[in-house]
Amino acid sequence: MTLVMKFGGTSVGSAEAIRETTELVRQSIAEWGQVVVVASAMGSKPIKVTDLLLQGAETAAHGDSHTYRTLATQLRQIHLQTIQELVEDAAERDSLVREIEQFVARFSDLCQAIAVLGELSPRALDAIGGMGEQMSVRLVAAYLRQQGIPAQAVDATELIVTDNHFTSATPLIEQTNVQTQARLGKLLQMGITPVVTGFIAATKEGVTTTLGRGGSDYSASILGRALHAREVWIWTDVDGVMTADPRLVPEARTIPELTYREVSELAYYGAKVLHPRTMRPVVESHIPLRIKNTFNPTHPGTVIVYNEDEQQHDGIKAVTAIKALSLITVEGRGMMGVPGVAARTFKAVAHSHANVLMITQSSSEQSICFVLPEESSAAVVAALQEEFASELEQRDIDRIWPFEPCAIVTVVGAGMRGTPGIAGRLFSALGDAAINIVAIAQGSSECSISVVVGTADVPAAVQCIHNLV
Ligand code: ADP
Ligand code: MG
Repeated sequence: MTLVMKFGGTSVGSAEAIRETTELVRQSIAEWGQVVVVASAMGSKPIKVTDLLLQGAETAAHGDSHTYRTLATQLRQIHLQTIQELVEDAAERDSLVREIEQFVARFSDLCQAIAVLGELSPRALDAIGGMGEQMSVRLVAAYLRQQGIPAQAVDATELIVTDNHFTSATPLIEQTNVQTQARLGKLLQMGITPVVTGFIAATKEGVTTTLGRGGSDYSASILGRALHAREVWIWTDVDGVMTADPRLVPEARTIPELTYREVSELAYYGAKVLHPRTMRPVVESHIPLRIKNTFNPTHPGTVIVYNEDEQQHDGIKAVTAIKALSLITVEGRGMMGVPGVAARTFKAVAHSHANVLMITQSSSEQSICFVLPEESSAAVVAALQEEFASELEQRDIDRIWPFEPCAIVTVVGAGMRGTPGIAGRLFSALGDAAINIVAIAQGSSECSISVVVGTADVPAAVQCIHNLV
């Protein structure tokens, strides 16, 4: 039986965490036979290796040729110190140090090239951003070997084939399955545990891509599907998926069981504990997904189940929020007379490559509103003003404007559908807390309701909704 286990940044973020992780791998091999390990870049809070890498690339792109050098020193230090603490065998340690030095040198070279060019392409961003995983898996594999567990570091560039949408690539399922089965199948047969980089992949031509920030969860589910794994486990630093982000709501509780749709909705609307694309590969293959705590492994965590006739009486299960958004409104009394307004609006938005999180209509029916990340707002408003230039001139459309910064607060629970009055309780709770609701939408799968509020209202909104959970 094959088990795919993904370890997040904190689970490989220090020598102590890697020891813990190794113990979990050892136990799982004893229990399951075959284990595939997927690892993120080292990410002990507050310093995350991936942040350092991306910061180096971005500062270089602004012509700063000093910051990346400081960051390179920091990267080297984090990895070499962990190697010193973990790896005893001199030969193993030397070759590991050499490999880390090579990655750090490559990081510096690429940043220097970016500083000279004054330009950072998404392709270069992926080449740099994925190095953290390449370093961490080599370290974890070496430590597993030292503990007597045959293991080998594998770059997912050899396994996961994607399109060339750099920074958020989409896997090509067939090729990925074939390559993964061939490469990992052989290692597993030989009794070797593969330690695979999360986050990264490659195009057919072998150019490194990434699956989006937090994409290591997705890597694990892609590999799970390819290998017909019995289960996929995501090891992180909290006891599973909780009723709210524990950093916002200290009394948040672990949810023992969630359906794929519920957890998809939660992840899509900002619950960072799971990457939103993680569910698709495993739901299609009916592979159970578990979220567990590396630092509290006896806790059962959360299991994600396939359940088409979801329980009808659970009501609200969780609340989540995404901040730094902008609500854009296209408004005009003559608007309903203009043909194809909605189509033209969203065509202009698509042209700006902005990611629309929510669409809603105001009660007056004389406007279209939608929510997108704040950083896309200026470009989108400009694109809309251009698209509707003549309508604006003729006053069919009065104005196009952003409300920002705002946030989406989402309530999730499949049982909400069958439970009357939930929306009422939700809105009166927000009303009692004097929170101004700017817009409302219901999730497509009917297991969520989202409201747009001003950023300053987020803590209070999340807290008062959590009281209903
Ligand atoms: P990893 O590096 O293991 O992938 P992440 O930081 O990506 O870890 O995700 C885990 C974090 O997600 C938790 O530490 C927690 O702060 C945050 N989080 C946000 N919403 C939730 C939620 N509903 N349940 C659990 N954790 C959440
Ligand atoms: Mg994560």
